[in-house]
Formats: sequence, structure tokens, C-alpha cells
Amino acid sequence: MNKRSIVFAITLLLALPLRAQNISAKAREIHNSAIVIDTHADTPQRFLDENYDIGSTDPKDPGHISLDKARADNLGAEFFSIWVDPETNHGHFARHTLDLIDSVYEQAARHPDRMMMAFSVADIERVHREHKLAALLGIEGGHSIENDVRLLRDFYRLGVRYMTLSWSNTNEWADSSGDIDNPKVEHHNGLTDGGKQIVLEMNRLGMLVDISHVADKTFYDAIAASKAPIIASHSSARALSNHPRNMTDDMLRAIAKNGGVVQVNFYSAFIDENYRKADEAQAKDRDAAVKTYTDQLKAAGKAVTYLDSERIEREWNAKLPRPPLSSLIDHIDHIAKVAGIDHVGLGSDFDGVSGATPQGIDSAADLPKITQALLDRGYSADDIRKILGGNLLRVFRDAERVSREMQAAK
Ligand SMILES: [Zn+2]
Repeated sequence: MNKRSIVFAITLLLALPLRAQNISAKAREIHNSAIVIDTHADTPQRFLDENYDIGSTDPKDPGHISLDKARADNLGAEFFSIWVDPETNHGHFARHTLDLIDSVYEQAARHPDRMMMAFSVADIERVHREHKLAALLGIEGGHSIENDVRLLRDFYRLGVRYMTLSWSNTNEWADSSGDIDNPKVEHHNGLTDGGKQIVLEMNRLGMLVDISHVADKTFYDAIAASKAPIIASHSSARALSNHPRNMTDDMLRAIAKNGGVVQVNFYSAFIDENYRKADEAQAKDRDAAVKTYTDQLKAAGKAVTYLDSERIEREWNAKLPRPPLSSLIDHIDHIAKVAGIDHVGLGSDFDGVSGATPQGIDSAADLPKITQALLDRGYSADDIRKILGGNLLRVFRDAERVSREMQAAK
């Protein structure tokens, strides 16, 4: 054992009492033999607006992601979400995108011994071998490119490896599920021709096409346009929780045919129908409370950030009973049955759901509980490793191959 391995072993042992409960030796072994990949965490909002340090060891910190929490869970790679709130960043989407990208690089620069930027499958594998967290970037919402394919290419060059075609807002080339029923919003019946060209340019660059958040028609248009397998970076199953952010069984089968992967979102309203209904019932009052609070801040001349509304949402979410962990496992199970075991993974939405995660999942350190639950349901070690990250690596590798082929063909 070299010095680093000893330090690593001691760190692991110290962390054990906190998290060893109910995780069998077998589950632990499977979990630690996997490259665990989570494809969606909103932590960059904290890096930028709160000056949060991912090296934080504050036991009271309510955040889902820290280097300690990632290490406790053997988290190999995290796709940090570059999400630009369209409400508060009007006129400078791209600049705010750059600020958020910078915030992730700055964290990696601050902790070079434990965290490293990664841009490819080979990077993820290498960083994992070095027992560091591989940090990747995913843009959440096509509005970030300001209708300029050159900006898309620039973001790729800065390391962005997936882009969600839309966030909850319809942009100029892709309809969103978030406002598809709003008659005041101009829609396009899915992806415009320009939107299809953006998908092809993403294929050529080697940037994964992410269809979480898009309207159903946009999903089918993206599947038809894309030459590479696509991902849903953070979506669950609509058959179990009837939310437009979730995927229907027909969509799950289409993703399977495309060779892509659905990364299950942990958000309570997406994984548990009872919670979703309770959340919907209080949505109007909660949104009013958020507005009152943020209006007060604005009146006082303060800049309002996502974290301000998050604070109020967290209080409202805490009023609802948390769903059991089995609700989350049901979604993994359902997608594995309908789409197949090769088409399901994890896309937590950590730090983006105002505390609304199922019982037992309080941070990235709790991911081994998912491995245990899958083991309890009879999943094999190989299948569990696919879910934990193997499937995402396969899709990423395929996208890299398609990119090389398209560039060679020119
Ligand atoms: Zn999202």
C-alpha cells in the first residue's frame, strides 16, 4: 500500500459508521467494483451563487454533493448541470453559461488531488483509477447557445459533453414539456429544421443529445434526427408517476431501439404518484410564497438567484411525507423491464430538487443503498454495474464513435 492508498483506506474506514447500515458486504463489493456515474447535479448554482466549496466538510450542509460524500459512495463521475435560469438571465444566456462552466473548473482547480475535469470515456476511466471524482459538464437548455451554432461548438471546446435540447422553456427551435400547454408560448410542433441541424452538429461534435425536459413531439423528432444514441439525463417513468417530465413506455421502447439510456431522476414528484399529487395540490400556494419572497428581495434592491426560491421551496417540500426508497427502485425496475437492462441508469437531479428525494437518499453518499435494493430485487452484479454507470459509458462511447465517423466522412 502506498501512502495515498493508506490515506484512502483510513478515510473510507472513518466514513463507514455513518453509512454502513444495511449495506451488505456483497452490495458494497458490487458498488465499489463499478464506475458509478450520475448524469445530473445542479451544484454549479451553489458554486456560483453561494460560493460553495465542494471540499466542504460541514456536517450540517444540506447539499447533496461534496467530495467527501462522493468518496463515501465511490462516485466515479458527475455531470454538473450548466443551467441558466431564463427568467433572471435575459439577454445574456451565453455569458451566464460561461460563468457556470468556470465555476466547475475553479472547483477542480481548488481540489486537484480529489477532482478532475473529464471530457471522454477514457478520461472517466483514468480519473476513476486515480480515485478522483471525474467532473463533466452538461448544458441544461438549448437557450444557452442563443441560436448560434458557433456557440454550441465553443461550449463543446470548453468541455460540455451533453446538452438538454430544452429546459422547461420552449426555445426558438425546440418545444418543452414545461410550457407545451401554455397558449401564450409560440410552439413549433417539436423540433424545427434548424433544431434538427443542431442535433446533427451535436452528433458530429460528440456532444450527447439529451431529451429530458423536452415535449413529447420534440423527443420523437430528436430520436429521428440523431445519428447517435441519445440520453435522458434526468427523467423517470410516466407509467408510474404521471408527470410530463417523465417518459412514456412508448418513449422507453424508442430509446431502447435507438441504443440510448434513460437516467432515472430521484425527485419525489417524478417517482411517486402520491407525492406528485400532493405536490400539485400545494403548488399554487407554494409558488405564491416564492413570489412574495423574491419580490421582497427585488424591492430591497437585491439580485434574486435560484437559491432564493429554492429556500422557500425546500420549506414547502418538507411539509410532504417523503416517498419510500422503493418508489425510486420501482422506476429503475420498470425501465429495465420495458426498455431493457441496457437502457437505464442514474440521473439524480441532486441539488436541484429542493430536498425532495426519497427516504434514505440524503446525498450522494447514499447511492450504495440503491445497489443494495437492486441486489435485494434479484439483479445480478453485472446488471447492477450497467445501471450504476456501464450503460452511460456505452452510450458515450457510441457517441464518440459516431462523431469520429461523421468527421472522417467530411
Ligand atoms: Zn432539470
